[in-house]
Amino acid sequence: MRKINHIVVHCSATPEGKDYSIDTIRKWHTDRGWRDIGYHAVIYRNGEVHQGRRDNEIGAGVRGHNKHSIHLCYVGGVEKNKKKGNWIPKDTRTIEQKEALIDLCNYYKNLHPKAEILGHRDFEGVTKSCPSFDAKSDYKVITDKFSHLDLEDEDSHIVIKGRD
Ligand SMILES: [Zn+2]
Repeated sequence: MRKINHIVVHCSATPEGKDYSIDTIRKWHTDRGWRDIGYHAVIYRNGEVHQGRRDNEIGAGVRGHNKHSIHLCYVGGVEKNKKKGNWIPKDTRTIEQKEALIDLCNYYKNLHPKAEILGHRDFEGVTKSCPSFDAKSDYKVITDKFSHLDLEDEDSHIVIKGRD
């Protein structure tokens, strides 16, 4: 298993109330020349979790911080309308997305007890507002949970679509 130090939360930077599929997001990334979607999981507005890159593959989420990271992305993250041509960051997570994110963070934290949960914006030098909320403090309880342990917990109930 790849060593994971950071569980990183992202948003897709798409407008509130609109659905985007993992295939669409994958296409945005492969159009940039990436070999696959950058994230390991995408959380739909209805709470469904879809597999992106395999967990043992290095993702593409934060420049210089991918080797030991898992990247999670919820669909949304900006206001419905642009203001003066710019998207305005907004925490658009639905209740279902909030629940799925907590489940996912717990799932990965169980696998990687020493990992820290952060938002994209919490890395030094990042000027984006992704994921449009304070993931570091929201998930601090989960980050702190097993930090002192070396356990591997196989017991998890999360369903990740597309995972074999
Ligand atoms: Zn991001």
